[in-house]
Amino acid sequence: MADAPKPNAGGSRAGTKKELPDHFKDYKHVWVAIECEHGVVHPVSFELLGEGRKLADKRGVELAGVVMGGSDEAIAEAIAATFEYGADVVYTVVDPVLAHYRNEPYTKAMTDLVNTYKPEILLLGATNLGRDLAGSVATTLLTGLTADCTELAIDDEGSLAATRPTFGGSLMCTIFTLNYRPQMATVRPRVMSMPERQEGKSGRVVSHPLDMGEEDVITKVLQFVADRETATAQLPYADIVVAGGLGLRSAENFQLVKNLAEVLGAEYGGSRPLVQKGWITADRQIGQTGKTIRPKLYIAAGISGAIQHRVGVEGSDLIVAINTDPNAQIMDFAHLAIVADAVQVLPALTEAFRKHLSVNRMAG
Ligand SMILES: Cc1cc2nc3c(=O)[nH]c(=O)nc-3n(C[C@H](O)[C@H](O)[C@H](O)COP(=O)(O)OP(=O)(O)OC[C@H]3O[C@@H](n4cnc5c(N)ncnc54)[C@H](O)[C@@H]3O)c2cc1C
Repeated sequence: MADAPKPNAGGSRAGTKKELPDHFKDYKHVWVAIECEHGVVHPVSFELLGEGRKLADKRGVELAGVVMGGSDEAIAEAIAATFEYGADVVYTVVDPVLAHYRNEPYTKAMTDLVNTYKPEILLLGATNLGRDLAGSVATTLLTGLTADCTELAIDDEGSLAATRPTFGGSLMCTIFTLNYRPQMATVRPRVMSMPERQEGKSGRVVSHPLDMGEEDVITKVLQFVADRETATAQLPYADIVVAGGLGLRSAENFQLVKNLAEVLGAEYGGSRPLVQKGWITADRQIGQTGKTIRPKLYIAAGISGAIQHRVGVEGSDLIVAINTDPNAQIMDFAHLAIVADAVQVLPALTEAFRKHLSVNRMAG
């Protein structure tokens, strides 16, 4: 398996070594914004706590989670889970104004917390909510934000080295926020692995007021309507994913991917050109500008394995490539290869799994 391009993450910044300004010493500890909507914590927050723990240990500081919500009851489980996934401290802001996510009050709550307690690093999930909040918090605090990071490390001078793809994913760059604090970064779901949960672990809770009334907020939530399509496409957290690429040749043949996914109880997705052709919806695109996945089994049919696709799938436990070209890029990182026409192999696999699974079901 060939190595993906590796940046100089965590290394030194050649030619830029300098003492950090004195007032930076007031900024300590690593914070993770815990995304809690309607009482449910987005798993990316736990993945970030795992990563934050490593950064905090390297810096010799505390790891904190920030939990905001409309009432104590609404965030009680989120606070417990934040401790169990590794936080030493939880900062909370509880106010009815925070019952639903809205940019203004959440930005005020987070920026007030940062200005009061001064974390050196603030991490958020690169979800719709996290991206919205991170941008406004960074601009309000006048600090730097590195979006969609794939690797985080502490460099030799103690700064956050935030690595992300650049130039269409053909290069990786490591970005430092040298002159401002906190150093902010967002990370997409499933890019970092899930840490072990330590049942019953707890810690210190610090409560902070919001100091903002409903009359100060321009946006009003009239009703919450779940997006049906995105609610059903759970690619990042699926155990099995079957995907297709341009090698399938037509939208009709893409149905073969869906058939196999259905038999396996899997999610289905595809490469970016399929979204551009309208064969699949954008929320099913896998790769750098789509979803990052970490399934136990990933079956890629008629996908070449370009770097922009590879970065979204290489965390999978087992990658099976079906491709007519034995020299396709995907062969560099697939664990198993079927060199054959996917249009013939997919129905054969679907039939074989259908028989195998129904025999097992009868035996069970
Ligand atoms: C900024 C940027 C962001 C991008 N983001 C993404 C992204 O998030 N996700 C993504 O996927 N791409 C992304 N791309 C596009 C990426 O560079 C590739 O162009 C794309 O992944 C190729 O899609 P593909 O593998 O389906 O098609 P192709 O590259 O055309 O590959 C088709 C493959 O199918 C094989 N094949 C042909 N016939 C058959 C057959 N009958 N049976 C089996 N195999 C067959 C061929 O050998 C070939 O390997 C991005 C590009 C840019 C510039």
